[in-house]
Amino acid sequence: MPIVPATPEAIAAAAEALRGGEIIAFPTDTVYGLGTNALDADAVAKVFAAKGRPSANPLIVLVPDLDKAGELAEVGAAARELAEAFWPGALTLVLPRRPDYPLAAPVSAGLDTIAVRAPDHKVALALLARSELPIVAPSANRSGRPSPKTAAEVETELGDRPVMILDGGPSPLGRESTIVSLVGRTPLLLRQGALPREAIEDVLGRRFAEPSEAKAATAERRP
Ligand code: AMP
Ligand code: MG
Repeated sequence: MPIVPATPEAIAAAAEALRGGEIIAFPTDTVYGLGTNALDADAVAKVFAAKGRPSANPLIVLVPDLDKAGELAEVGAAARELAEAFWPGALTLVLPRRPDYPLAAPVSAGLDTIAVRAPDHKVALALLARSELPIVAPSANRSGRPSPKTAAEVETELGDRPVMILDGGPSPLGRESTIVSLVGRTPLLLRQGALPREAIEDVLGRRFAEPSEAKAATAERRP
């Protein structure tokens, strides 16, 4: 059984496993994530395989803070404001990817953008600090199934595919992150999640377009 309590020793072992290209599961503030080294294409392929996730669906990368996000992505004024207001927390930002950063290609599924988030959870932050890696962390469920909120739910979903499931108790929020794209001319709400849209709109000083308008805005930017 791969479930282990998230002690400092277990977190150190999990960080070693990440550095060795293994996949592990761990708690975050939102839901449990299935994590691996975002720089290792073979390791990232294991995450897609374990989830049965289509390779066209890109992954979120967890980072410890805004400075690290700035190594992977171009952080503009709006991204900085939102991160300063809500990180660490349940907000994922989709940003232009820095082409010079050695991110494994499958992470962003061929897009020139990247989704980044700093999680507000001591186990996830300890893992980031200890491994010194950006960690891809989609929810630790089979594709199309509900996101797990406990270590036991991860084991039911994925069995022993993760070499280790760190048990840090139930995820406090129990819902996915809210995803905002800051890639185009106007900010887009891509997924409603644990962070309320109104809180984000208050910081941005503008309302998100409704889905039909947002779709039109996305289509507008396509060549
Ligand atoms: P999950 O981590 O399983 O909750 O799913 C991550 C979500 O982030 C999916 O809905 C992805 O489509 C979305 N996502 C990740 N990267 C990007 C990106 N570069 N652009 C737009 N959406 C993204
Ligand atoms: Mg998911």
